[in-house]
Amino acid sequence: MSPADTVARKAPVQLPEADGDFYQFARTLSEDENRIRLKVRAFMEQDVQPIIAGYWERDEFPFEILPKLKALDIAGSTYQGYGGAGWSTTLLGFVMMEMARVDCSISTFFGVHAGLAMGSIYLCGSEEQKRKWLPPMAAMEKIGSFGLTEPDVGSGAAGGLTTTAKRDGDTWILSGQKKWIGNATWGDVTIVWARDVDDGQVKGFIVENKTPGFHVEKILHKMALRVVQNGLITLKDCRVSEADRLQNATSFKDTARVLAMTRAGVAWESVGCARGAYEHALTYAQRRMQFGKPIAGFQLVQDLLFRMLCNITSSQAVCLRLSQMQDQGLMRDEHAALAKGVCTVRMRETAGWARELLGANGILLDQHVGRFVADAEALYSYEGTREMNALIVGRAITGFSAFV
Ligand SMILES: Cc1cc2nc3c(=O)[nH]c(=O)nc-3n(C[C@H](O)[C@H](O)[C@H](O)COP(=O)(O)OP(=O)(O)OC[C@H]3O[C@@H](n4cnc5c(N)ncnc54)[C@H](O)[C@@H]3O)c2cc1C
Repeated sequence: MSPADTVARKAPVQLPEADGDFYQFARTLSEDENRIRLKVRAFMEQDVQPIIAGYWERDEFPFEILPKLKALDIAGSTYQGYGGAGWSTTLLGFVMMEMARVDCSISTFFGVHAGLAMGSIYLCGSEEQKRKWLPPMAAMEKIGSFGLTEPDVGSGAAGGLTTTAKRDGDTWILSGQKKWIGNATWGDVTIVWARDVDDGQVKGFIVENKTPGFHVEKILHKMALRVVQNGLITLKDCRVSEADRLQNATSFKDTARVLAMTRAGVAWESVGCARGAYEHALTYAQRRMQFGKPIAGFQLVQDLLFRMLCNITSSQAVCLRLSQMQDQGLMRDEHAALAKGVCTVRMRETAGWARELLGANGILLDQHVGRFVADAEALYSYEGTREMNALIVGRAITGFSAFV
């Protein structure tokens, strides 16, 4: 019997703590930044973890956590001014990871609101639009959504959007449908991307969800991210004023600027998802006895844990460098695409292995790992599938576009 086995039998509490930050990436943050990261971790572990499986099962959003989430004061923190705290995107990446490490629905809810919705206004809005919307959104008094995908148009949104915008004097008339729109069933405002029928270009509109002609239906029967409330939006002669058109979005290239920024956050989320699954699985393996000893003491189990940790460590290195490049203004679309593509592949593999380590218990919601496996499927597909990200990188490195 090895010394580790002896320790496991006599005093399991003395075993190494399950920690997916094997290379101590968190040490690259300053003390202040780590304080923020740990504040988010504490909130996720104390306020979200104990209740989230029930909400996931019931397909409901946990509104009870919102006051404490608001009090963290973290929405829009990377934006300069307008209620933002001027964080580095590296810190935001760590925060997204900490959220997803406990629950990917909460990180997704936050990413849609603070990343996609606020980011559209921050990157593409006029000064007046930023001043009007960003402070209440940073305070989470107004919750935002991002409406790009349609029932028949997902990956091909750049050329294929069918939702139309028709100028009529000082207003625009929006018509069409948007599918999968996170937070739309209960949020306040949606960034709707639509094609201008006159010049054929994609434009963005800030649409309050209570606007006449804006109707949302909740998407039911999801098998991933069940806590996120996704909507099917129908826009029927929905009128918005010219003042609510994103003044600095003139084509899909501007939509793509928003997506590149948030794709980096999804890469970090996928590291968090993999870490959460791995840390649960490792803790379980240290305690689960088979053949008279903890399964963590078997060579094949250790090989699986090794492979999971390799995935997490290499993905986190990719994310960290990506965020540094973003902070230095060096990140291009293809850099974010490579990170999102590779990290979500590794996340899916890691979550699957974690589930495997729990055996049958791995499919029980109260063990958490099954939730990571299911939620990983959505992270894998949204904000650009693996194929789309491969094509973005492929175009950049070969000089040839292979999308169609
Ligand atoms: C939980 C969840 C939340 C979401 N939230 C939002 C949101 O808030 N706002 C929003 O706008 N959207 C949202 N989405 C939509 C998401 O962005 C799309 O699902 C994604 O872009 C993929 O589009 P699709 O599902 O229509 O798949 P499709 O585009 O139909 O693709 C199906 C498959 O075909 C492959 N494929 C397509 N074209 C090619 C090609 N040229 N070459 C090779 N393979 C190809 C794809 O990679 C994929 O594997 C969400 C999705 C989910 C699941």
